[in-house]
Amino acid sequence: MSISVQKVTKLYGEQRALNDVSFDIQPGEIVGFLGPNGAGKSTMMKIITCYLPQSMGKVSVCGFDVGEKSMRVREKVGYLPEHNPLYLEMYVKEYLAFIAGLHGISKPKRKVEEMIALVGLTVEQRKPIRALSKGYRQRVGLAQAMIHDPDVLILDEPTTGLDPNQIEEIRSLIKNLGEQKTVMMSTHIMQEVEAICDRVMIINKGSIVADDSAANLRQMRKQSQTVEVEFDGKIAASELRKIKGVRQVEPLEGQRWLVRADTEGDIRATLFQFAVNSNRSVLTLKVAEQRLEDVFRELTTNE
Ligand code: ADP
Ligand code: MG
Repeated sequence: MSISVQKVTKLYGEQRALNDVSFDIQPGEIVGFLGPNGAGKSTMMKIITCYLPQSMGKVSVCGFDVGEKSMRVREKVGYLPEHNPLYLEMYVKEYLAFIAGLHGISKPKRKVEEMIALVGLTVEQRKPIRALSKGYRQRVGLAQAMIHDPDVLILDEPTTGLDPNQIEEIRSLIKNLGEQKTVMMSTHIMQEVEAICDRVMIINKGSIVADDSAANLRQMRKQSQTVEVEFDGKIAASELRKIKGVRQVEPLEGQRWLVRADTEGDIRATLFQFAVNSNRSVLTLKVAEQRLEDVFRELTTNE
């Protein structure tokens, strides 16, 4: 077992940040840890990486208990914290050499070069971290997390705050890394989990509310579509509701609507046809980010 979490509760004073959480992660799995802000994702990850003690329950990594064998756990785990606290004044190479030193790596210079190549930092390697874009800083964070060749990677919202191109780059980097390692990554973006993970755990208010394969999730989402559509003039909600497959419509600003549909085919085609039949034009038609509440509901209600 790579990660074993048994009946873990975390109290911050009166507040229960984690409530009786249990799960196991097998070697080689890429697990998405999905949940809204404040759900308890970072707290769980800090406990797994020995940065915070749990109030109750047991956690082990590669068979080592986080409380009793924290040094061994730290050897096994690479951790990218949420607010990746890099030393901004240091140079990329200098910083990574410093981290290699902390781990007592035998040939630090070679290792630093290897990591720089692995995460795609070659062009930026001589710059101070302060001068790097957020995407490149995340790469430094990933290099830092992996420099001691850990079996398990814990990545806390690795793509938050990045622009779409950077997101794509970091996602594919994580996907590649995941071929050799056990990865647990948190995110509040549904699509991210689908793009990268084998399995998804959803946490809400400190409790795990769903734990399923990403394939099942994809299957469910294929039938449940959320799109944003904008027409060039007024359309009544009742008209939209009559469209086959449409489950719910929600007005946005102007002539824009959020349409939720349960259907096998692509609802965008249906909406387009509807506009044509109504003598309207479609100005915008795009797949909307699925809201977590919908995902919760879909994953937790039985089919
Ligand atoms: P997430 O990472 O999913 O956004 P967190 O684990 O950061 O959630 O937080 C879970 C809950 O615990 C939140 O309500 C947060 O306000 C609270 N919390 C987190 N860290 C602390 C702390 N150090 N002291 C008190 N409350 C905290
Ligand atoms: Mg967090």
